[in-house]
Amino acid sequence: MGSIRIEGLSRTFKNVTAVDDISMDIRDGDFLVLLGPSGCGKTTLLRMIAGLLEPTGGRILLDGDDITSAPAKRRDVAMVFQNYALYPHLSVAKNLSFPLRIRKVPKAESAARVDEVANQLDIAHLLDRKPKELSGGQRQRVAVGRAIVRSPKAFLMDEPLSNLDAKLRTATRRELTELHRRLGATFVYVTHDQVEAMTMATRIALLDNGRIEQIGTPEQVYDAPASVFVAGFLGSPPMNLMPATVGSSGGVVVASGRGLEADLWPGRCDERAVTLGVRPEHLGTTVPSDGFGVRMEARVESVENLGSEQIAYCRVGDRTICVRAPRPIQLTEGRDVTLAAAPEHVHLFDAETGRRLE
Ligand code: ATP
Repeated sequence: MGSIRIEGLSRTFKNVTAVDDISMDIRDGDFLVLLGPSGCGKTTLLRMIAGLLEPTGGRILLDGDDITSAPAKRRDVAMVFQNYALYPHLSVAKNLSFPLRIRKVPKAESAARVDEVANQLDIAHLLDRKPKELSGGQRQRVAVGRAIVRSPKAFLMDEPLSNLDAKLRTATRRELTELHRRLGATFVYVTHDQVEAMTMATRIALLDNGRIEQIGTPEQVYDAPASVFVAGFLGSPPMNLMPATVGSSGGVVVASGRGLEADLWPGRCDERAVTLGVRPEHLGTTVPSDGFGVRMEARVESVENLGSEQIAYCRVGDRTICVRAPRPIQLTEGRDVTLAAAPEHVHLFDAETGRRLE
């Protein structure tokens, strides 16, 4: 088991509130990704769970036990650091067995466990080497191996892929997902990389300014972002966001803004200022035949070729709107076009608070 409950957790450094009254439940077996921009408090939160940093408020419970004040080595969690933190003077075998040695596991048992883990991670041929004789990818595996060599209740990982090149990162992402599946253990994983979050997480907690903006499955946070911040953070290029006014006309909820008109759905609503969002992949040139949806009068400014897809940058009013579509995109530079999206792909956020309107 490895469920982690976080209750009203805070950490301030002098006048900076790095983690601001966060509460959440990390379920046993979750692959929870803490995602957010630089400085949002991800590492601070992870280090408090690991016991490397004391909270200034709140509690942490591991399988129901209050571990808020327990020293790191008494917590049944293992941490993988961004720089791997391997002992440079020890061989790979000794690095791997280190956590077992300090827990006084008998030598034979420890050696067998090291062999098992080394085989699992395909590093058995490296056991006699020192960390400086390894590639970045190999070091990363040793760091993961050192974490899984004993079976802790939870694995805590702080950007463990950030030192790898793009190709290796993609491969290692899949290996970590597979490892998580095989171990069935709880993973808490810090990253600022949305692709890592989307591909590996069972749930994503998106942080901003020390607070949780949204927690949900990758599909939930992508398909129904809880705020303008989440909408703008996830997706590449990010969601197009435009100021607009919604209201009702003839029993239909309508929206209008500079260069855009929308008949959204049957119903009524009071007039209010909103931010209207549409993802680049949901915009096209086919206007829905039932007349519902959003329409924008646009001029295509430039088209970028990504190989399998193309991105068109279009001017709508005073904004640049992105359209993403498989190649060949039906948009030509310099042309005036009507861009359209179906109502189910339109997101509305309160203009003031930025929160999603249901
Ligand atoms: P990154 O992705 O850049 O690693 P992060 O989301 O992990 O960022 P944290 O490292 O948790 O962010 O930092 C959160 C905030 O707390 C930042 O404003 C940072 O400057 C501040 N902070 C972190 N550690 C300390 C410290 N030891 N002393 C003072 N301020 C700190």
